[in-house]
Amino acid sequence: MTIQDIMFSEEDWGNFWVYFRGEPQQLDGIELLRKAIADVDPALLTDSAEWVQKYRERPSTNDGFTFAKPFGYHVTEHITYGEICKYQEIRRFTHQHQCETALKLCQFLEKVRSHFGGNPIIITSGHRPEPLNSQLGGATNSEHTYSVPGKGAVDFLIDGVSIQAVQDYCDRHWPHSVGYGAPRGFCHLGIRPNGGRIRWNY
Ligand SMILES: [Zn+2]
Repeated sequence: MTIQDIMFSEEDWGNFWVYFRGEPQQLDGIELLRKAIADVDPALLTDSAEWVQKYRERPSTNDGFTFAKPFGYHVTEHITYGEICKYQEIRRFTHQHQCETALKLCQFLEKVRSHFGGNPIIITSGHRPEPLNSQLGGATNSEHTYSVPGKGAVDFLIDGVSIQAVQDYCDRHWPHSVGYGAPRGFCHLGIRPNGGRIRWNY
């Protein structure tokens, strides 16, 4: 058997891990997959291999993150819905796509958190719906408005970790938007509908 024999589409691959339950037949399947991949490229079996990292991610679509959840709801293991909204009802999401975008951002934040030893993430600004965004002096059409599917942002730092180091890590590993806010004490992590790579200074 080769990797080609068991190759999933990207969507199938994602669904496969989402529904991972650790059942014996699934573990057998994974072992089979590991062997097949090893035939192609043993380097893919290292701890840092992307597929291994993906496999270790907490399943997301089973979490049921909806905008009506209480602020105490954990979007990911260490980040609550309330932290994205400063626990203010005026900042609550109003569309499901905003939850999906926030989830993607939080999943990356968990990676950053883990990379720097597990110190707490401090979100200094997350969702800023209009007109709040304008009132607070946010940029017109800011990513922080989460106004359309695939658009969102958080400003954050990590307690006890150099903000420059955090920003550098995001710069290297986040393929979407990074605002170089380190001189101001935060890193802006965002995404736009086209998913493109964008960098800027303040
Ligand atoms: Zn920002």
